[in-house]
Amino acid sequence: MKLQSYAQGEWYASSTTGTVIHHAISGEAIAEISSEGLDFQAMLDYARQVGSPNLRRYTFHQRALMLKALGQYLMERKELFYTLSKATGATRTDSWIDIEGGIGTMLVFASKGRRELPNSNLYIDGSQEQISRHGTFTGIHVYTPITGVALQINAFNFPVWGMLEKLAPSFLAGVPSIVKPASQTAYLTELVVRHIIESNLLPEGSLQLICGSTGDLFNHLTYQDAVSFTGSAWTGQKLKQHPTVVANSVRFYMEADSLNSSILGNDVQVGSPTFDLYIKEVVREMTVKAGQKCTAIRRAIVPADKLEAVAEALKARLSKISVGDPDIEGVRMGALAGLDQRNDVRGRIAELAKNNEIIFGSADAVDVVGANPESGAFMAPVLLASRDPYHTAAHDVEAFGPVSTLIPYQTDEEAIALAALGKGSLVASVVTASPSVARNLVVGVAPHHGRVLVLDEKAAKESTGHGSPLAHLIHGGPGRAGGSEEMGGIRGVKHYMQRTALQGSPDMLSAVTGMWLQGAERHLDSVHPFQKNFNELEIGDAVISEKRTINLADIEAFADLSGDKFYAHMDQAAAQRNPFFKDRVAHGYFLVSLAAGLFVWPGEGPVLANYGLDHLRFATPVYAGDTLQVQFTCKQKTNRETEDYGEVRWDTTIVNQDGAVVANYDVLTLVAKEAHREGVNS
Ligand code: NAP
Repeated sequence: MKLQSYAQGEWYASSTTGTVIHHAISGEAIAEISSEGLDFQAMLDYARQVGSPNLRRYTFHQRALMLKALGQYLMERKELFYTLSKATGATRTDSWIDIEGGIGTMLVFASKGRRELPNSNLYIDGSQEQISRHGTFTGIHVYTPITGVALQINAFNFPVWGMLEKLAPSFLAGVPSIVKPASQTAYLTELVVRHIIESNLLPEGSLQLICGSTGDLFNHLTYQDAVSFTGSAWTGQKLKQHPTVVANSVRFYMEADSLNSSILGNDVQVGSPTFDLYIKEVVREMTVKAGQKCTAIRRAIVPADKLEAVAEALKARLSKISVGDPDIEGVRMGALAGLDQRNDVRGRIAELAKNNEIIFGSADAVDVVGANPESGAFMAPVLLASRDPYHTAAHDVEAFGPVSTLIPYQTDEEAIALAALGKGSLVASVVTASPSVARNLVVGVAPHHGRVLVLDEKAAKESTGHGSPLAHLIHGGPGRAGGSEEMGGIRGVKHYMQRTALQGSPDMLSAVTGMWLQGAERHLDSVHPFQKNFNELEIGDAVISEKRTINLADIEAFADLSGDKFYAHMDQAAAQRNPFFKDRVAHGYFLVSLAAGLFVWPGEGPVLANYGLDHLRFATPVYAGDTLQVQFTCKQKTNRETEDYGEVRWDTTIVNQDGAVVANYDVLTLVAKEAHREGVNS
C-alpha cells in the first residue's frame, strides 16, 4: 500500500520510492510513505484561499453541527479502523482509546460548541469594561479565527485521537487544517482521512493530509498560521526554533514528552483498598498501549518504608500480563509500534539501568503468545527501582514503552521535590485517602503539571485514569512537557483565534459584537419585546416598566409565601445591628419576582420559557417605601439551528427612586422563531 497525501482537494501519490512501514505484530511490510513532489506552498495557499473563507462563512454552531455529523459518520465505520489499528500492535482496548476516544473527543467539541459558543463567528471574551466616566467610551474583548492554517503534527502512538483532538477545536474555531501524522502509523490516519473526505460533510479546503515529510512547508508559515505539535521534546524544540516560526511569531503549541509521576500518599496502609488502587493504576499505565502514552506513569514515587511492599505487589500483578498477538484471547499487552521504537526503548532502559535496578522484566527477553517475538515489536513490562531518589536517571530519561521506576520518599515535601525533578510534566496522580495529604501534595505538585488526578476509593468508581486526557480538561504541561495546552473545552478553540480588545462607543460596539452593551441606545416602541418573535426582535429592543413602591406588608407577604423569615427581613432591631442594613430589608428574591411582575407581557406569545438567570447581583438594599422600576433590554440572540426557537438574553436592571442600581442580571428565555403575536400574523 502506497500511502497518499490529500492536497488541494486531490489524493496524491508520490512517484518516488518511499520509506517502508512494517506491521508491528508480524513485521511484514504493509505500507510505503513519501511526500516527495508535494507542492507545500500550494497546499498552504489553498487552505488560506479556499478552506479559510469557506469555514469562516459559517457560525460556531453550524461548524459544531458539521463536527457532530462527522463524528457520527466515523463512529458508524469504526470497525474498519479497528481492523487496521491491529497493525500498530494495539489491543482492542488500546484501539478503543485511539479510535472511539478520538471520535468521542470530536463529539464533545461538537456539543460544547453549541452550548458554550455563540451562534456567530465572533466570540466575546469576558465582560464589558467601564473605561470612561460617563460611559460613552467603553471596552470589550473579542476572539476571531486566524485566517491562515492549523498545521497539526502528531506522534505515532495515537494516529486517530491525535488527529481528531486537534482537528475538532481548530475546525470549530474556523481554521483549516493540514494534518501530518507520524510516518510509523500514518496508514491508520490516512484511512480515517479517506472516510472524512468521502463523507463530504466538511467544507472544501477544511482538511489536507501530508503522508511523509513536511518538506519546505515551514518556510512559508506566517503569523496567521498555528503549529500544533505532538512528539518528542527534541523534535518539538527544533521546529519551534525554525527561523520562519521565530521571525513571523507563528503560534507554536507543543505537547512533548513527559516523566509523569504517581505519588502514593504516606497515609496509605499496605494492603488497604487505596493501596490496591495504586498498584492497579501503575500496572495499567505501564501496559495500556504497551506504555506508549505521553501520560503514562514513568515514576512511581512511594513512601520509603512501603517501597518493598509496592514492588512485590506490582511484580505479582505484572507477572499476570500476557504479551502477544492481541487477536488471541487473554493477551493483555500487544507490541510497540515498530522495531525502531523497540530499539529506542531498549536503549533508554539501558540508560535507566545505569543507576537503577531492574526488579521485574527484561529489556531483551519476552514470552510472546501467538506471534514471533523477533519479527514483532514485543517487549516485556520492565520495572526498575531507584536507590538514590535525587540522582536517578528516571527524572531525565523517557523510555516510551512499558517501563516505570519506583522512587522512595520520606516526607510530603520530598515527594513534591522529586515530582518536580521531571522539569515539567503532563500529569501527576496523588493516591491517598487523606484530604490533608491530598491538599498538601496537590498544591506542591500543581505548578509543575498540567493535570493532577487525586485518586481515592470514591473517585476510582468512575475515574478515567491517570493517563487519559479528556476533551473537557486541558492537556499539556509546563517545561519539558512543551509549555502549552490543548483541549480544555472551549479553551482549546481559542488557540486558533486572535483575541482583540475593542474600544468605542457602546452603540458602535453593540453593533460590532451583536451584544447590547451598557450605555447603548434602547429601542422603546409600542410593541412590547415579548410580543416579538425571535426573528423580529432586535438587540436593544427594550421596555422601561411602570414603577412600584414596596411596603412592609409586601416583605411580610413574601416571607409567608416563601417561608424565608431570615432575621434581616423580619426583625427591625436585628436588621439594624447588621452592618449592611439600616432597617428591615426586602428579600433579593422578592425583587427578582417583583421585577418579573413589572416587565413581563402576560399574554400568550412567542416567549416560550424562562430557563434561568445569569450574573445576578444585588447592589443596593431595598426598604419599605422605596420605589422600583425595571429596565429590560434585549441583550443577545442565539439562534438554535435545529430548533424552531432561539435563546434570548435580556439585560435586566432594577433601579430605585434615586436612580441607584438595586440589582442587575441577565434573564434567559427561549423565544419562538415563527410564533404569532396576539392578533397579529408575523
Ligand atoms: P517525534 O519523533 O518527535 O515525531 C513527532 C512528529 O514530528 C512526527 O509526526 C514526525 O514525523 C514529525 N517530525 C519529525 N521531524 C520533523 C521535522 N523536521 N519537520 C516536521 N515534522 C517532523 O515523536 P514520536 O516518536 O512520533 O512520538 C513519541 C514522542 O511523542 C514521545 O516522546 C512522547 O512522549 C511524545 N508524545 C507526547 C504527547 C503529548 O501529548 N504531550 C502525546 C504523544 C506522544 P515522522 O514520523 O514522519 O518523522
